Amino acid sequence: MEFTGTGIGRGVAVGQTVRMPDPLPEPADTPSKRGADDELSRATASMGAVARDLEKRAEIAGGTAADVLEAQAMMAEDPSLVDLISQATAAGKTAERAVFESFASFRDQLTAMGGYLGERAADLDDVSQRVIADLSGVPAPGVPQPEEPFVLVARDLAPADTALLDLDKVLALVTSDGGPTSHTAILAREKAIVAIVGTADALTIENGTSVIVDAAAGTVMTEPSAAAVADAEARIAERREAASAPLTPGALADGTAVPLLANLGSGDAAASAVELGAEGVGLFRTEFLFLDAGQTAPSVDEQTAHYVRVLEAFPGKKVTVRVLDAGADKPLPFLNDADEENPALGLRGLRALRANEQILRDQLTALAAADAQTDADLWVMAPMVSTVEETEYFVGLAHEFGLRTAGIMVEVPSIALLADRALAHADFASIGTNDLTQYTLAADRLLGTVAGFQDPWHPAVLRLISEIGQAGADTGTPVGICGEAAADPLLAVVLVGLGATTLSMSPAALADVRLSLVRFDRDAAQRLARIALDAHDAASARSAVTDAAASLQKE
Ligand code: PEP
Ligand code: MG
Repeated sequence: MEFTGTGIGRGVAVGQTVRMPDPLPEPADTPSKRGADDELSRATASMGAVARDLEKRAEIAGGTAADVLEAQAMMAEDPSLVDLISQATAAGKTAERAVFESFASFRDQLTAMGGYLGERAADLDDVSQRVIADLSGVPAPGVPQPEEPFVLVARDLAPADTALLDLDKVLALVTSDGGPTSHTAILAREKAIVAIVGTADALTIENGTSVIVDAAAGTVMTEPSAAAVADAEARIAERREAASAPLTPGALADGTAVPLLANLGSGDAAASAVELGAEGVGLFRTEFLFLDAGQTAPSVDEQTAHYVRVLEAFPGKKVTVRVLDAGADKPLPFLNDADEENPALGLRGLRALRANEQILRDQLTALAAADAQTDADLWVMAPMVSTVEETEYFVGLAHEFGLRTAGIMVEVPSIALLADRALAHADFASIGTNDLTQYTLAADRLLGTVAGFQDPWHPAVLRLISEIGQAGADTGTPVGICGEAAADPLLAVVLVGLGATTLSMSPAALADVRLSLVRFDRDAAQRLARIALDAHDAASARSAVTDAAASLQKE
């Protein structure tokens, strides 16, 4: 039987499943026998204990995981939650019930906000369970610890669990909930754990079932045949070889350089990207800096310090910073109008910045200041550019601030179709295939029901990319790719064949893509691109290219 979900990364795993234990039962709503003061002090003591435990886990985990766990530790002692709990205990509830209800009402508020904040709701649930477990004197529900390596099947994983997973034991993660931007997905991507999230019916898979988890295909196959297991094991061996290959610069078999760059969301991730051989940064997403700042934008000084940290990790190398991409899946309280019915089609990205130009000017000021203090090669780009006029506006403004290399992200079909005109004004273009696919196929990238459309192999998406590649070649303008498509080793070759000059991806994907590129020369890459363009749909493009690649690759 085959289950499908959203695969994170490209990995494959073969093993037997172990189910995550069920969550704690809902605390009974019976009146307290201890009195309100006693219940409130029990609740606050447990909240404090959980916060300290999460801080300790943050210290051990480091990296992005530490930020997530520290944020959870703060949730555990959030004063507005304490207020809600105090009201509930004053109304005669037990500490357990008060904690349960107060966290649940907070969770509902976050879920209603949707997008990035909605996906933080799972983090809050985990904190609530930890506090209730502490109050009840039982262990917090967590990852089981069997002797043998296993495939973990769960509803969703709390960051506290994902961050400290024993990677020698956990072969893969399969969750029934969670989207591509849930913390399980982000941390799995960062730690290169084979994972499939949002797998409907995953919880019906029995404990101890043999499975093949294929993240590239987004499938979990139960009770596979011996041939399927052998094929999966061969792919695992190939990936192991890729991971241990020397960290040479990205290039095709004929020596054509294709610099391999990293997508980063915080300065903390820079060091590990360098270790994995990133030749620079193709996309530094600044949203996380703003999302973490809360109700107002971070100050120019705070931003400068953060950008300096990233630039310093890449002396003499290219670092491409994207100005704030707020809206749609990443709403910011001080920038976005919460009443938009279709936020992905609303005031997001550059449109939102133009409507709040001081925020853009402050960010460019901070970037210029960081540039002056470091010797990386800073490139800046704007998200969600849809017209030639917007291109002229952003590139002109960035140059005014002394930023020498300014470009646009190509994420909207309109600008891809007019790439020849847009690139006359930009120093470079970077194709965001995640949004370009969403807008080309008219399928919300966060919506599970239309996830099947979110496939960058679709020839319509590839045809738009070829327009930009052609315009780049005609005008001598660099054209990078910074969407998830660049992390697919075979699609990466097709993208180079379509004219991409650099590829940027989650650092965990660099090794696979490096190994794939050296198997093809420029002519083969262009032939594969042609084959993909000629297909009728994403599935046939993928399979036609896979078949042709076998005969075109150099050994
Ligand atoms: C994209 O849209 O492909 C992209 C790289 O930007 P983000 O995923 O942050 O929207
Ligand atoms: Mg985008």
